[in-house]
Amino acid sequence: MYDILIIGAGICGASIARNLSKYQLNIVVLDKENDVANGTTKANSAIVHAGYDAKPGTLMAKYNALGNSMYEELCKELDVPFKKCGSLVLGFNDEDMKHIHELYERGLMNKIPDMKILNKSEIKKIEPNVQENVIGALYAKSAGIVGPWELAIAMLEDAVINGVKLELGKEVLKIEKINSGYKVVTENKEYLTKKIINCAGVYSDIVHNMIAKKSFEIHPRRGQYYVMDKTQGEKVNRTIFQCPTIMGKGVLITPTVHGNLLVGPDSEDIKDRDDLSTTADRLHMVREQSIKSIGNIEFKDSIRTFSGMRAESDRGDFIIEEALDAKGFYDVAGIKSPGLTAAPAIAIRVLELLIEGGVELILKENLKKRKKHKIFMNLSSEEKNELIKKDPCYGKIVCRCEMITEGEILDIIRREVGGTTVDGVKRRARPGTGRCQGGFCGPRVQEILAKEQKISLEKVLMDKEGSYILVGKTKK
Ligand SMILES: Cc1cc2nc3c(=O)[nH]c(=O)nc-3n(C[C@H](O)[C@H](O)[C@H](O)COP(=O)(O)OP(=O)(O)OC[C@H]3O[C@@H](n4cnc5c(N)ncnc54)[C@H](O)[C@@H]3O)c2cc1C
Repeated sequence: MYDILIIGAGICGASIARNLSKYQLNIVVLDKENDVANGTTKANSAIVHAGYDAKPGTLMAKYNALGNSMYEELCKELDVPFKKCGSLVLGFNDEDMKHIHELYERGLMNKIPDMKILNKSEIKKIEPNVQENVIGALYAKSAGIVGPWELAIAMLEDAVINGVKLELGKEVLKIEKINSGYKVVTENKEYLTKKIINCAGVYSDIVHNMIAKKSFEIHPRRGQYYVMDKTQGEKVNRTIFQCPTIMGKGVLITPTVHGNLLVGPDSEDIKDRDDLSTTADRLHMVREQSIKSIGNIEFKDSIRTFSGMRAESDRGDFIIEEALDAKGFYDVAGIKSPGLTAAPAIAIRVLELLIEGGVELILKENLKKRKKHKIFMNLSSEEKNELIKKDPCYGKIVCRCEMITEGEILDIIRREVGGTTVDGVKRRARPGTGRCQGGFCGPRVQEILAKEQKISLEKVLMDKEGSYILVGKTKK
């Protein structure tokens, strides 16, 4: 019997699993997808919000501020890309400036450090591409950018190295109460556990309702983005927001940790929780709105579009609590933005709830750390030569856009929470994230995956279960 079963391997499940892996507990993480971080955690703005936006007194405000303060050290510890680049909320008229002053005051109440209201010349000095009609901005130095799926993967890798079991492709279909806890049922396996932590993202209400009375509803809200080529990556140095409305934080423009530019998202209530399609009309709107902030983005250099699904709950705040009518069943639900930022702090709260629920936490001795991922292009010439001598696979470039070597790809495939699909490899080592979007390296990655997994090329998946790329040979 497990002590704790976590449903969902997104950033919340990953943060909680890593935190709990430090203790002598028998833990399993289940996810319905064939890879970790394959829900909302892989499709968002990747911003570590400063925390001035959330209403004071809410859980969102509390855990945003705390989460932000943890990021720098956490990412250093886990060797995950993070940059404290700061953010600006731009104001173009008196109405916006009134809002900016309100955000500043809210930030003070939320105890956000390093905020300042800038005038036009101060803004233009640090962000010369901002439109001329800007009149002021809220500058928050503590905001940052991160590799969101890289962080979730790293946290789960750390957790697995320290004894947590991770089982993918396991959709929880039913939960039953048993004497000492719960029976969790998937299509082909059952799990007995004392406690359950529900981190099922946009599905967290459905999972909650499997064992407890309905107490909240999740309304999916989709957001669409453009990813721009690195030619556009330096159009801004910080995350640039517009003044928020009730539908969200508005269209933002932000650098990414890998040097691209992200433009989006819109905000659209949608019925189908899995509909992650992008649409021409919505993307057009995103593009038009972005021009309000920065006028010289070359949209012909867009290399990809994508959308993410917000888990908007009818309670309007994060739900982090034990279900009233299901003792030992904890919801981590309605984790919309700033959920990525808040996740490490949410994990601390979950630990407190477990202690309150009688879980005895005994620290493990000799905790292990995940091995650093060597990025070949970041090494000095001497280090590169040394590495190639030890392993000639580092001398073979597979992705020409991002200059990723076969050695790096093999390393991430062979790890504890390794990549098993073309997109899984892309998220971990980045082949296919460049301008050609895998046009050149895609087939090479497929060959490497087939060889490593000892399967035929036709069995290699692009991403989710069933996403086959090749169907057979056209020539003998
Ligand atoms: C457009 C957009 C922009 C955002 N921007 C930011 C931002 O810049 N900064 C920020 O801080 N936050 C941002 N967020 C919010 C942030 O992305 C989320 O709060 C966070 O990713 C939620 O993580 P999670 O682990 O709760 O959910 P998820 O990442 O969705 O993980 C849930 C997991 O549960 C699994 N699951 C579901 N049902 C079952 C089941 N029955 N059985 C087994 N597994 C199941 C899913 O497969 C999934 O992997 C944004 C969100 C969106 C949509």
